[in-house]
Amino acid sequence: MSQVTLSASGRFELQPAPPVPENDRTAKLQNPGFGRYHTENMVVIHYKDGQWGKGSLEPYRDIPIDPAGSVLHYGQAIFEGFKAYHQPDGSIATFRPEANANRFNDSARRLAMPELPVEIFLEAAELLISQDRLWVPKNIGESLYMRPFMIGTEAALGVRPSTEYMFILIASPAGPYFPQGVKPVAVWISEDYVRASPGGTGSAKCAGNYAASLIAQHQAKDKGCDQVVWIDAVHRKYVEEMGGMNIFFVYEENGKTIVVTPALTGTLLPGITRLSLLEVAKELGYGAEERKISIDDWDKDLKEGRMTEVFACGTAAVITPIGTVKSTRGEWRIKDGQTGAVTSKLRETLLGIQHGLLPDTHGWLHKVI
Ligand SMILES: *Cc1c(COP(=O)(O)O)cnc(C)c1O
Repeated sequence: MSQVTLSASGRFELQPAPPVPENDRTAKLQNPGFGRYHTENMVVIHYKDGQWGKGSLEPYRDIPIDPAGSVLHYGQAIFEGFKAYHQPDGSIATFRPEANANRFNDSARRLAMPELPVEIFLEAAELLISQDRLWVPKNIGESLYMRPFMIGTEAALGVRPSTEYMFILIASPAGPYFPQGVKPVAVWISEDYVRASPGGTGSAKCAGNYAASLIAQHQAKDKGCDQVVWIDAVHRKYVEEMGGMNIFFVYEENGKTIVVTPALTGTLLPGITRLSLLEVAKELGYGAEERKISIDDWDKDLKEGRMTEVFACGTAAVITPIGTVKSTRGEWRIKDGQTGAVTSKLRETLLGIQHGLLPDTHGWLHKVI
């Protein structure tokens, strides 16, 4: 019997695929896009009989699933997204991965799925990034996007939580989100659809939230917009998020710059970029507030000139400026459709920290190798 190599912790079996030829990888890294390519390997951990088994680092492959597998019928599926960045000293670091591990477990609890110990989540990421490190792009704005997810796999059609699960981690090189330079997007405020309601799954990163959002995204496209803005389900007036990103409003009041983001009410996804930007903003000398913002505020504060910039934020795009807002009440322009100075400054600062070009005063970077 061949000897299986174990990770240092003994928790993972290491049976990776050999690297693909260098010219294949280099060609893909020229223009990686987002989620188009993946690395040679993945990490898999099975949950059964009330516990997580030994994990494995193994070649990226199709996964077998029984047609009665619970995820296919009742949708127990959660995911996360975080990035590994090349550092100036040649090392590779991930950005706040413990925050993703904790949020993964928050999502798991909401969907009656088992939690995965944070240290196992982190070790899985370290193993995959170390093994497939040649896929971490070197340019600013580029990264290796890590996509952990968990699905219920038990073959049983009764409606109840699955007793078996698969945790899988895949990695995908990500190019700059705006290859042609940062360009503000146009958004459609959706009044026909809601993303989340009180008591629902809005604060969990579950696959079903996205499935339910796609029709509104379609509608936004029909209205000539790039993205949809969600408002709250009860009052139908408070701004919640933009697509799969959190949203920020920049105010200039009495010579002071204040960034405002909707407060976490339970229906918003608590973004790690959002949380990080609240801190970065304070360090840059801006005020930073979490509160409710209504569509009326947005309209009025913009017209009165107090609100000067609006942007969305999330791991994938970091910061996306919003230049045009369309809704049933008409169309507003923000900053003449240009990217504002505060938006640019926040974007450069966060990217600088992530790429190790600015001091990491919060210990947000988690060195992998
Ligand atoms: C993932 C996600 C975000 C952004 O979270 P980050 O941790 O900043 O990437 C915002 N809104 C929704 C709906 C999301 O799924």
